[in-house]
Amino acid sequence: MLRKHNTPKDRIQIIKGIHGWRPTKRRLHVINKKRKTTQQEDTTDLCPLCKEHQETQNHIFQCPQKQARINRTKGLRQIKTYCQTRDTFPPVTDIITKNLQQWMNIETIPSQTDITITSRYRTTQQETTELLTAINNQTKIGWEQILHGRISLSWEKIATKHWTKKDGTWTPGFIRQTVKLSTNIWLHRVENEFGFTEQSREQYMQTQLRPRIEQAYTNTETVSQYHNHLLRIPLARRLLLPSKTNKRWLQHIASAKASYERHQMKTLLNTPKITTFFLPKKTKKYHPNPTLQQMPHKKQKQTEKHIPNKKQQTLTGQQYKLQINHTELKKKPNYHKRQYATITNYIEGPQKNNTT
Ligand SMILES: [Zn+2]
Repeated sequence: MLRKHNTPKDRIQIIKGIHGWRPTKRRLHVINKKRKTTQQEDTTDLCPLCKEHQETQNHIFQCPQKQARINRTKGLRQIKTYCQTRDTFPPVTDIITKNLQQWMNIETIPSQTDITITSRYRTTQQETTELLTAINNQTKIGWEQILHGRISLSWEKIATKHWTKKDGTWTPGFIRQTVKLSTNIWLHRVENEFGFTEQSREQYMQTQLRPRIEQAYTNTETVSQYHNHLLRIPLARRLLLPSKTNKRWLQHIASAKASYERHQMKTLLNTPKITTFFLPKKTKKYHPNPTLQQMPHKKQKQTEKHIPNKKQQTLTGQQYKLQINHTELKKKPNYHKRQYATITNYIEGPQKNNTT
């Protein structure tokens, strides 16, 4: 299938079609949802042609929009002509194209029996059984899989009924035609969204990127000084650059923004608490606990170790910490006194100091 004369771009397109990797709205929507909330974009999973249904990989071929329908019928007609020129056994062409058409129109594919086939195509008993096995095998694989190049091998024998050995094989040529149909339908959908020429596509991309670029230029404080060179080019000139360049630039901006946020958070977490510099005024309220103060050191240790103090348990984490601080300070009476006096001086002013 992937012949050497296909360009790399064509090959990528074919591979995406075969494996169901085309960037449909549904697929883009799922990818978008998996991103971090800050990087998510406002997307919809609705088909851009009919604007009614979710655009899944199958919907590309089942879209009820008028032009999409016309394209499909045209594509199927081309397959029919191809089969006729290749002298395919007529019932094969008829069954495959009809069933494909029915699948694309979201109609139920009628099940075939010996009688329906023989009465319709006037085939011999052997031809009928061969047709039936091919039909059953394809039903197991799925009729839509023909569009992705997955066709039952049972077709080969019955399709080349009138062929001589010289003619080679039928299946590869047929797959090439179905893949062509699939690619053409997708191409129409893409052109409908982005325009028909390279220039109109570029214009579309630029209008899409414009608001994001403008936002980056207005919120310059979200990027650190170190990354300021990213904004060196003036906005007017930036908007004139090709969309590919700007897309890459936006990625740089996003990563610079993220790293700056990380850095800010890190410094915030490393900043010591204010209580390391000043003892809060409140401490006086909580601390003077006469029972604790009068208790000798040894006894105090015991109460901490063995008898859980009820009052202590009810204290919040912050208050508990302060209490511990005080008990520690008390162990070095001189140091504690000096320190405490200067701090109260600072907080409460000299007036109160005079009274104590
Ligand atoms: Zn649609």
